[in-house]
Amino acid sequence: MQIIGLNLEEVEALVLELGEPRYRARQLLDWVYKKGIDDFGQMTNLPALFRHRLQARGLTGGALTLAGAAEAADGTKKYLFRLPDDLCVEAVYIPEEKRKTVCFSTQVGCAVGCAFCATGRQGFQRNLTAGEIVDQVRRIGLDQQTRISHAVAMGQGEPLANYAATVKALRLLNADYGLQMAARHLTISTSGVVPAIYRLADEGLQLNLALSLHATSDELRSQLIPLNRTYPLAQVLRACRDYAAKTKRRVTLEYIMLAGVNDGEADLVRLVELASGWLCHVNLIPYNPVPAAPYRPSPLQTRRRFLAFLSAHGVAASIRQERGAEVNAACGQLRSHLKL
Ligand code: SF4
Repeated sequence: MQIIGLNLEEVEALVLELGEPRYRARQLLDWVYKKGIDDFGQMTNLPALFRHRLQARGLTGGALTLAGAAEAADGTKKYLFRLPDDLCVEAVYIPEEKRKTVCFSTQVGCAVGCAFCATGRQGFQRNLTAGEIVDQVRRIGLDQQTRISHAVAMGQGEPLANYAATVKALRLLNADYGLQMAARHLTISTSGVVPAIYRLADEGLQLNLALSLHATSDELRSQLIPLNRTYPLAQVLRACRDYAAKTKRRVTLEYIMLAGVNDGEADLVRLVELASGWLCHVNLIPYNPVPAAPYRPSPLQTRRRFLAFLSAHGVAASIRQERGAEVNAACGQLRSHLKL
């Protein structure tokens, strides 16, 4: 077990069980989160016997070890982290002038199996624990020697299929004893797990929600995102509208533009219809080709035409900036051309 996946109440219970006063919990969490120290031996303001007991329990401070990294010219950096059972997950650091973002994973592999996604082709291996999720953000902040301002659950896995660990991790990122990140700077990207979207709306967290929309008809969306057969478009959009109404947060509709697949006139008209009249924003994403997937990115002029038409019809929209390594993309589009 790792300290990093535990909330304050759980660390306090552990500390009391080991015969120490409650305030030791915050001291312990300070070492792990604020100082980035995992080795109990270096936690010099804790009594030696307590440190020994923590070690004897088989506890560790963090959950991950760095297995590899590759950096693009623009500072975007992909990390490969090794988990305690030797499986690996990826996360990406995306520096911009005002924000430092980490795109993190929530599962090893993914069961959703989207047609355009490298992760979906691997199949599902297991859920990450809350500690394994939070530690991706912490470790990247330590490596970059910077404060990570934004974090997005947009890496490998469907976050809402690992609901409890993902929400706990987001609470730890937000906590005053954790990484102290603003909830409004935390985003969950989902392929559309409808019951979990309703549940998330009632968590009392000001999280951002992004939906991997990618198609405006059930026929095409079911081809691209098989989960659409379980939760069709109308149900998914109803849940997203409910999320926006309850949280007052603008929902992002992610739309990967695939040449000749979802970038025609009829797609554009339907996109305007389904994005009109509620608190949402359309994010047009250049496709990042995946080996063996039969898709090509839409030309830039098509993306610009979509943007102009959406804007002219009063729909908030943007084209996602292409980074040098093209890692800044939708759920499952995390895998970059950076080779580890
Ligand atoms: S796009 Fe996201 S939900 Fe779909 S298979 Fe890939 S990781 Fe899973």
